[in-house]
Amino acid sequence: MLDGRPLIICEHCDSVYQRPVLARRQTAHCLRCGALLERGRHLNTDQLLALTLAAAILFLFANAFPIMQIGLQGLSNEATLWGAVEALAYGRITPIALVTGLSIIFAPCLQIILLAWVLVHARSGKIAPGFRACMRALEHLRPWSMLEVCLLGILVAIIKLAGMLEVHPGIGLWAMAILTILILLIAGRDVRGLWDELGVDAR
Ligand SMILES: [Zn+2]
Repeated sequence: MLDGRPLIICEHCDSVYQRPVLARRQTAHCLRCGALLERGRHLNTDQLLALTLAAAILFLFANAFPIMQIGLQGLSNEATLWGAVEALAYGRITPIALVTGLSIIFAPCLQIILLAWVLVHARSGKIAPGFRACMRALEHLRPWSMLEVCLLGILVAIIKLAGMLEVHPGIGLWAMAILTILILLIAGRDVRGLWDELGVDAR
């Protein structure tokens, strides 16, 4: 802590800098390797909380409604996210079901709950109980939340199946598409700003 300002370390080359004070949309880059050090926050706590609540509703929609409807000669079938995980669990590739369930249902669900918990408290200027553990868990969950990969897979499946069967995207798919964007926005770097905003030491 030189002259009171905390230090920041480049994730790519380990250079150490004093943390710059950034305005909205400003960015700081490493002088040595050019990597992005820090970005001014795009969203404040109120906006993050509003988007988190929207994400919670969309998560329920994405899980409750079918992702796609498949029809062949008058017969039709609907697929939900949970149905897809269950179908994988009955095959030979059971471990894949576990990873799929973790990355498309469990991780996004936990991200939304943890974000809502820390943000509801931060909004009234309080530090949520277990704040450090929640923020660390959010960092660890980020690589496991892979809605975008799943979404891409579903789109490829729809395009491939469209030639052979009648395929209609369901409400769940639209909800999932918007949820994917929201999760990227709310669980990204902006939420790290809470450490400074609430004055919590990361150690
Ligand atoms: Zn660097």
